[in-house]
Amino acid sequence: MKIDILSLFPEMFSGVFGHSILKQAQEKGAVSYNVIDFREFSSNKHKKVDDYPYGGGAGMVLSPQPLFDAVEHLTAEKNTKPRVILLCPQGERYTQAKAEEFAREDHLIMLCGHYEGYDERIREQLITDEISIGDYVLTGGELGAMVITDSVTRLLPSVLGNDESAVTDSFSTGLLEHPHYTRPAEFRGLKVPDVLLSGHHKNINEWRHKQALRRTFQRRPDLLEERSLTGQEKQWLKEFESDRERE
Ligand code: SAM
Repeated sequence: MKIDILSLFPEMFSGVFGHSILKQAQEKGAVSYNVIDFREFSSNKHKKVDDYPYGGGAGMVLSPQPLFDAVEHLTAEKNTKPRVILLCPQGERYTQAKAEEFAREDHLIMLCGHYEGYDERIREQLITDEISIGDYVLTGGELGAMVITDSVTRLLPSVLGNDESAVTDSFSTGLLEHPHYTRPAEFRGLKVPDVLLSGHHKNINEWRHKQALRRTFQRRPDLLEERSLTGQEKQWLKEFESDRERE
């Protein structure tokens, strides 16, 4: 996969892309990141990329010309049809399902905003997706682009050592993930559940499934509204509800 990021602050990305899984993913050839300062595409003699809003008001607005030229340059090279993602607090809220969708693409281009926002014609003509990473306002789109890059990269084939870990992660199954324990079996009087020490894989999987459902029921019941529940899950949910009534 190729990920192009258009930013006014490309140096912000080196720490995140130069470490851990994202660094290894590039070394393995699973992905290549290309962070471009879109100021380079400004036709203004002072390389200006923003201007005052028509109608007045606070803040500066990103001009269309540098971003249109930068995206056209990136798409003309290969004649591909990449997803062009605008980072924006007004966009669709980012989810694991969206990360999975983006991970199936060959080429992503992300546009990081700053200042008051973008000229609306960028939204209307240039992009395929508008994504918000949450209901809060950041100073720029760079952190959002890093979030998308990280969550997409770890889903690419061969990036994670154990391919299973992405499959059982929270949200991938529609549930939050089950709790984890490691050695020692007892720490400060707190014991690991017996079933995990039993070596009985069927029972362990069943326990994990039930715990994942319990966590989701307790912390994110909204996720269960979209799920088609199995008979066993319905039974467990009744159990959790009566546990709650007793508490
Ligand atoms: N005035 C804009 C508004 O009210 O919608 C906010 C602009 S914000 C200060 C500057 C830039 O940061 C945005 O253009 C966007 O690229 C990025 N940004 C801020 N919050 C974001 C969020 N929650 N998700 C994704 N990008 C965000």
